[in-house]
Amino acid sequence: MKLPIYLDYHATTPVDPEVFKTMAPYFTEVFGNAASRNHEYGWTAEAAVEYARKQVADLIHASDKEIVFTSGATESNNLALQGVADMYADKGNHIITTAIEHKAVLDTCHALEKKGFKVDFAPIDETGRVKMDELAKMITDKTILVSIMFANNEIGTINPIAEIGKLCKEKGVLFHTDAVQAVGKVPVDVNAMGIDLLSMTAHKIYGPKGVGALYVRRKGPRVRLSAIVHGGGHEKGMRSGTLNVPGIVGFGKACEIAARVMPIEMPKVKALRDRLWNAIRAELDEVYLNGHPTERLPNNLNVSFAYCEGESLMMGMKELAVSSGSACTSASLEPSYVLKAIGVGEDLAHTSIRFSMGRFTTEEEVDFAAKKVVATVKKLRDLSPLYEMAKEGIDLKSVQWTAH
Ligand SMILES: *Cc1c(COP(=O)(O)O)cnc(C)c1O
Repeated sequence: MKLPIYLDYHATTPVDPEVFKTMAPYFTEVFGNAASRNHEYGWTAEAAVEYARKQVADLIHASDKEIVFTSGATESNNLALQGVADMYADKGNHIITTAIEHKAVLDTCHALEKKGFKVDFAPIDETGRVKMDELAKMITDKTILVSIMFANNEIGTINPIAEIGKLCKEKGVLFHTDAVQAVGKVPVDVNAMGIDLLSMTAHKIYGPKGVGALYVRRKGPRVRLSAIVHGGGHEKGMRSGTLNVPGIVGFGKACEIAARVMPIEMPKVKALRDRLWNAIRAELDEVYLNGHPTERLPNNLNVSFAYCEGESLMMGMKELAVSSGSACTSASLEPSYVLKAIGVGEDLAHTSIRFSMGRFTTEEEVDFAAKKVVATVKKLRDLSPLYEMAKEGIDLKSVQWTAH
């Protein structure tokens, strides 16, 4: 067992050895520029890119003509939002999203607000799912785009994507979804779900870093996008720049594997996730699951451990590579904006840990992690006067604290 145990698959995943093997020749022997039209080197590279395009499209039931390769999902989200905003500016200036999107969506929305677009946030419930009736009421004749993530990267909550797609179709509004955490883990079908634009990235599904895609619907409706990167007209003019051939080949292979193994891999990963949660719950009181109990990614476990500060928890269990619900911003320790938005109080938000497992996680690792978590929480609580008072039945809210 290799330490620290990697339980941070939402942040990134290792490249699958089969993916790596497929990519290898494209760094050395098959090094051509896919845009070189005059010789064999270019043609072979182009054929490899087109084969990968089909593999990526198949995973989301799209046509290969609808896949635009990018440098990753940050760029895909930027292209979807900025590309639609610019192209459809005559139609309207209103964009709807949610407060728990990835920063690549939120920051792009803020940039668009500065350019005169109006961004509204659809309310979400305490599990992180968008409230459908409120969303329906927010769409106006000025709305050009709804951007709502498929599955959240912190709490794993899965949105009612097909319902959102249906609503957007009825209202004649484009629907973009950041599906980075969903593809390869749950079935994604752009047609059945009424998705017009979809962002994905290779490195969250056992492919290489620095390559991703944007799905852009071609029929019913045909979505048009203004480019944000100019020069050479690659990818039908939507994203110029020499294609990352080895990366794209690896991305394609990763998608092919994901489609093949999903039915076997996901129940296995879910069982590991549940095993960890059950072991934690069996030994500890006052632990709270964040997110939706069932409408959740099979590999996500986000837990608040009352009376245990997240950073102390992380320090106490250095043998585990996990994420805490707080982010160190310049000076202060901010609780996660996602947990805040779903109504987790500041105190509890600071005690949250995100565990995410994947293809290479073992039962042995999960059992080790569970023991480590339980021991660390017990130790911290033994040192906590607050926990002791709470256990003695003192209502902490009634205590008069002396100000310093
Ligand atoms: C990781 C992630 C991204 C960013 O993808 P990159 O390819 O790393 O730029 C965007 N959205 C979500 C939900 C993510 O988890």
